[in-house]
Amino acid sequence: MTGWEDGKYYGLGADFEPDWFLSEEQRQLRAELIELCRTVLRPNAIECDRTKTYPRANLEALAKLRLLAAIAPKAYGARGENHVGILMIAETIARYGCPATALIYMMHTVAVAALAYRAKGNKEIESLLRRMDSECLVGTASYTDPETGGHFWYPKMSGAKRVEEGWHVYKKSAWTTSSGYADWYVSQTTSPDFDGNYGNLSVFLFYKDEVKGSAGKWDAMGMHGNQSGPVEIDATIPADRIVGWPGDGALSNDETVDPVAMILYAGAYNGIGLSSIDVAMRHVTKKAHVQYGRRVADYPTIQDTFGRAIMEGSASRLYAYALAQALDGATEGGSWDIYYRDPKATPRSSKFAAWCFQAKFLAAKFAYEVPDKMLQACGGRGYMRDLELERIVRDSKAGWIMAPSNEVTAQLIGKWGLFGAGAIDWWNQRVDEPVLMNELGKLDDEGRRRIIDKLTSELETKKVAAE
Ligand SMILES: Cc1cc2nc3c(=O)[nH]c(=O)nc-3n(C[C@H](O)[C@H](O)[C@H](O)COP(=O)(O)OP(=O)(O)OC[C@H]3O[C@@H](n4cnc5c(N)ncnc54)[C@H](O)[C@@H]3O)c2cc1C
Repeated sequence: MTGWEDGKYYGLGADFEPDWFLSEEQRQLRAELIELCRTVLRPNAIECDRTKTYPRANLEALAKLRLLAAIAPKAYGARGENHVGILMIAETIARYGCPATALIYMMHTVAVAALAYRAKGNKEIESLLRRMDSECLVGTASYTDPETGGHFWYPKMSGAKRVEEGWHVYKKSAWTTSSGYADWYVSQTTSPDFDGNYGNLSVFLFYKDEVKGSAGKWDAMGMHGNQSGPVEIDATIPADRIVGWPGDGALSNDETVDPVAMILYAGAYNGIGLSSIDVAMRHVTKKAHVQYGRRVADYPTIQDTFGRAIMEGSASRLYAYALAQALDGATEGGSWDIYYRDPKATPRSSKFAAWCFQAKFLAAKFAYEVPDKMLQACGGRGYMRDLELERIVRDSKAGWIMAPSNEVTAQLIGKWGLFGAGAIDWWNQRVDEPVLMNELGKLDDEGRRRIIDKLTSELETKKVAAE
């Protein structure tokens, strides 16, 4: 069962659309995108899931609609789309089209945001943004480090140094969407003057011939088209491939990568959760139990299940749209000019950081839990591939574990709430003195002497090295 052959979508209706957040232009774009989903993205979602192939055709279709550079400034021929707009785009692709494509689009747009943030005056970046839609240049954000897991802001296996030709950059990523398929990569490393402070980060742009990807190796529970995989970089690149300047990485994360990623996570995973409701609704409103003369949807327990699912979705969506609207209000409608005027401006991170992480948590939770309920509501038919719910259930699980995982996010927000933003020790730099003293207190005299000798020897070595 594919698409919606009679032209009318079978899912939740307009009564549950928070359309008041969208401009007339955005509503029009959504209608065009839904049609593209019906004719291209959705059939490819089914095919790419079955064959585990990369949905390049879907990305070409999105490029034709000028969506690859959607978030980039109008000055580069892009749409200059705002936060509400990209939220709607990600949600629409995931709900009506293809979750794996939505995730590819998400990682691509996060990377576009990192570029747009520091584009002004960098001819290489400006040229890439200008050509992105016309040449269908798909990018990705290659951040997660093999040694630090989902703590993607902590690149242990990386380094950069200044060389005559520009930069020599080394980086290993454990996971990267579109690995081996992307035309360009934005990646983060420790800075050229790295001295042990992992908060000193730099961002670089690479093209596909400078990167060792892992095309065709993705073998996972769901998101088959996503083709996430390791990436290795050991390349010398021209000087203008640094995005911003050495040491600009932490600000890039706080002000651009994190807020845009969290909004797009919310869009993609709210879309997946909604998609499960839509598909299940199509089934339960048709399937009848003749002995009672009732459809599955007529059972009060099923209505209760759908009611709860819809409200979970509405809560997460309203949260995300309200946040996106607030971000638009703080950034002159998602304009990058703010940063071209004042590169240190922090309209997003100074007020909205904690709100952004919560948007990811809520959407990933909605997408993780509700499709399971829909599967239960559909019975044995839901378990079968042709209903599409089985694919959506598998795809839906990725959000919770994607960085920052919902466990990490909950802990982050809990700590922030309890002790304030200053308590978040992103790079594990703060000494927990009460714990340290407590542990030392357990040592006998000999144990204490051993520690004192060790520390004294370390200090001596450091002193000699300094001389
Ligand atoms: C489909 C998909 C696409 C992806 N695409 C990209 C991409 O394009 N770019 C990219 O950079 N990354 C990408 N990732 C990586 C992703 O964002 C995470 O970094 C990755 O899923 C983390 O997996 P891990 O096995 O390293 O988990 P780990 O970080 O090892 O976590 C394992 C478990 O420990 C828990 N945990 C970790 N820290 C704490 C803590 N402090 N307190 C409590 N619990 C904790 C986690 O919640 C989890 O349950 C992708 C992942 C997936 C699944």
